[in-house]
Formats: sequence, C-alpha cells, structure tokens
Amino acid sequence: TAGRTPLIAGNWKMVLDHQSGTHLVQKLDWTLKDAKHDYSAVEVAVLPSHTSLRSIQTLIEGDKLDLALGAQDLSAQDSGAYTGEVSGAQLAKLGVRYVAVGHSERRQYHSEDDALVAAKVQAALRHGLVPIVCVGEALEVRKEGRHVEHTTAQVLAALEGLSGEQVAGLVIAYEPVWAIGTGEVATPADAQEVCAAIRAAVAQQWDEATAAAVRILYGGSVKPASIAAIMREEDVDGALVGGASTDPGDFAAIVRFRE
Ligand code: PEP
Repeated sequence: TAGRTPLIAGNWKMVLDHQSGTHLVQKLDWTLKDAKHDYSAVEVAVLPSHTSLRSIQTLIEGDKLDLALGAQDLSAQDSGAYTGEVSGAQLAKLGVRYVAVGHSERRQYHSEDDALVAAKVQAALRHGLVPIVCVGEALEVRKEGRHVEHTTAQVLAALEGLSGEQVAGLVIAYEPVWAIGTGEVATPADAQEVCAAIRAAVAQQWDEATAAAVRILYGGSVKPASIAAIMREEDVDGALVGGASTDPGDFAAIVRFRE
C-alpha cells in the first residue's frame, strides 16, 4: 500500500434501516475511539441504503465523526424524469463522499453492463463523488483461467475516457463474484495477483504515477480472521466488506487489521 491510505468500506447492502444503521455507526465509533483508532491511518467508510443516508449524515456531522459516508449506487443521469433513481447531485448534497458503482449484485440483478457502469462513473465524477468501481470474475471465468483478463477488461471499460488525474483519485474494488457473500474468501495470493494486474493495466493505459496513486480494494467474504493477511499484500489497499460490516464488533476488528 506504499503511500496509499488504506480504506475499509462497509457495504450494508439492503440489510440495515436508518435506525439499526445509526446504532451500528454509534457502536462502531465508540469501539474505535476506545481502541484509539487513528482514522488518518486507516480511513473508514459506511455505505448505507439511500433511505438511511440522511440519518447517518446527521449523526456524522452532529457528533463530528471521522467516518466517510458512501452510497451503494447512483443514476447515470443528473436530473429529470427518472422515477426511482437517485442522482449524484442528490448524493453530493447529502455529504456523500464515496459511491459504489457496478457492484456484482447490480450487474447480476439489474443488468448493469460495462457501458452503464462507465456512465455512472462519469456521473459520480461530475458531482465530486469518489466512485468505488467494482469488478471481478464469476466462478466459471476463474475455472477457465481468464480472471485476470476479464477483470482488467472490466476496469478499462469502466474508466474509459477518464484522465490520469481522475483515475488516480478513484477507488477500484476487486470482488470475485464467487467470494461475495459465500464465506469463501480469496487467498491473499489470489487477491494480490488480480490487484497487481489491475494496477499494471492502469499503468499501461495511463502512467506509473496514476497506477501508484489509485487505491485498489479486495472484497469478498472478508472477516476479522482473514483481513490481516490480505492487507499485507502489496497491491491491496483496503477492503470492501459486506456481511461483516453489519456487525459493529466484526467491522471494528477489520478496521483494526494492524493490531
Ligand atoms: C460486498 O457486498 O461487496 C461483499 C464483499 O460482500 P461480503 O463481504 O458479504 O462477501
């Protein structure tokens, strides 16, 4: 993670509501403050459902918490007749900093293809949000040994047309589909192989400085017991955590992976 501040981001999916989410953030912050967690050394973000963003934002602002707020998705459009959609402008106005784009559950259940993911990345950037661009291969692709080419192609498609400066400031999350919500975490070597390949692809398409700056996370069944070894890998700059992020004790333990 040479020079890159690790990011641990909790994707709550459609699990917590605004009340249970608020309680979780309070418990998480107490636990981390108790442990004297240095938020500048490991950045922490939570990604609630859209319905919870306002409550969590109010808590973060009111109690001056160091947590960053993220959303799980956004519209590719900025405004207008798009019933049910939420725009980057609306998220930015709520103090949202990060937004997941192209999560495998969106790709799978909402038919999001690379073109839509790229349009959403651009929408996020138009409103000053930091996209967490999610990529990763399904089990069949890995069995065929095509996981690196598949994943790097997804990255290049999602980031098409961006400047090196834009790429340097965003976050990529490598999340093998077979590891998400399955309890089957990738080995540290598996995570490193693909994260390094993504960084090399960024260096080739843009330049070395861009590749050295962009943060690449691993996601897929991360638990307190598995995080430390994964974080020791050179090209892994943090984790996108699903299930374990809805338990404050587990999530705090993951944030404290160095201890
Ligand atoms: C995710 O939703 O991004 C994720 C990695 O989920 P889990 O940690 O539950 O596998």
